[in-house]
Amino acid sequence: MEKTLVLKVDSQKPDLEKIRVAAAIIKRGGLVAFPTETVYGLGADALNSKAVLSLFKAKKRPLDNPPIVHVGNLEDVYKLAEEVPVKAERLMRAFWPGPLTLIFKRSKVVPSVTVAGLDTVAVRMPRHKVALALLRESGKAIAAPSANLAGKPSPTTAEHVLEDLDGRIDAVLDAGPTNIGVESTVLDLTVDPPQILRPGGTSYEILKEVLGKVNLHPVAVAEKELAIEKARSPGLRHRHYMLQRLRWLWLKVSCPLWLIRLTS
Ligand code: AMP
Ligand code: MG
Repeated sequence: MEKTLVLKVDSQKPDLEKIRVAAAIIKRGGLVAFPTETVYGLGADALNSKAVLSLFKAKKRPLDNPPIVHVGNLEDVYKLAEEVPVKAERLMRAFWPGPLTLIFKRSKVVPSVTVAGLDTVAVRMPRHKVALALLRESGKAIAAPSANLAGKPSPTTAEHVLEDLDGRIDAVLDAGPTNIGVESTVLDLTVDPPQILRPGGTSYEILKEVLGKVNLHPVAVAEKELAIEKARSPGLRHRHYMLQRLRWLWLKVSCPLWLIRLTS
C-alpha cells in the first residue's frame, strides 16, 4: 500500500458516493479509518480473519489485545454473541448508539484473531453518522480499535490518524474532529453483577441507574499499574491506558468544577 486515500465527508450528511468507496474497501478485506463519537477507529471486516490480522499489523498492535467490534444494527449482535442477556437488551435500548461497549460470550462465526483467542467478544454501536453509514452500507460488523499506532494517543482528527498511519491503511473518512475524545466504557456482561473493565463515555452512575448493581473492576480505578493477571480487559495491560485513566480521572474532577463555575 503506498498512499492512503482521504475521503472528506460532512459529519452530519456524509456523501453516499464516498461512503460506498469506503464500504467497498471494507468488503474486499481492506482497512478504513473512520470517525466515531469518541475517537477515530481503524476498521476491518470483523469476520474476515485475514483483514483483522492486517489491521493488527498496520497498528503494530499486540495480538493479545482484541479490538471492539462495531455494529450498525441490533441483529448483528445476535450473530456475534452466543447469548444476549436481558440486561444487555436493556442497555442496548438505553445507550446505543453510544459510547458503551458490551462484552458477550462469542459465537462461533467470530474468528479467533478478532477476539485474541478469548471466548468473549466486545461489541458496540457508535453514534456518529459517518460510522453508522459505513457499517450499514458495507453490511459488515467492523472490528475497529483506535486508529493510532499501538502505544500512541488515540486520534480525534483525520490528521492525527495520518500522522501515524499514512501509507499503512487504504483510506480515511475525514469528517473533522470527533466530539467526546474519551473512549467507550467497556462493560462485561458475562459476569453477575456486570463489571466495568474500562471507564469511558458512559458513566458508572448512569449504568447503575439502569442495572441496579454494577461493579468496577480494580484495574478500572487503579491509580498505579496492576499485575497483568489482574487486568481482565486485555488492552488495560498496555501502557497508554494509564494515560487514558488519568484523562478520565481529570474529566471526573474537572467537569463538576466547570459546572459549578458555569452555574455560579
Ligand atoms: P481500543 O483498542 O482503544 O479500541 O480499546 C478496546 C478495549 O476493549 C481494550 O481495552 C480491549 O482490551 C477491550 N476488549 C476488547 N475485547 C475484549 C474482550 N473480549 N474482553 C474484555 N475486554 C475486551
Ligand atoms: Mg486504543
